[in-house]
Amino acid sequence: MLIVVVLFATVLLRAVIVMTVVYLMLPKAFFCPRCADKLASIRHPILRWVLPQVEHRWCLGCGWSGIVRRVRERRRILPQSRVINRAARS
Ligand SMILES: [Zn+2]
Repeated sequence: MLIVVVLFATVLLRAVIVMTVVYLMLPKAFFCPRCADKLASIRHPILRWVLPQVEHRWCLGCGWSGIVRRVRERRRILPQSRVINRAARS
């Protein structure tokens, strides 16, 4: 029984290490990793419920879309519809 617990603990430790490294490799939110333009948030209720530390974002400038780390917002982010309207005008 002890060997099962030890093997299960090593499997859990490997999973935690891999998830930590993947999380640290993700870019931070708000700015595109390709063109440094501002990113718009895409709502995913299931992703938010399963992994609240990450979010799906989309770049209005180059079209990049991907998973980014969620960081606490210091500035007030404009609602998505106003951002899209501003992009449509330019
Ligand atoms: Zn971009």
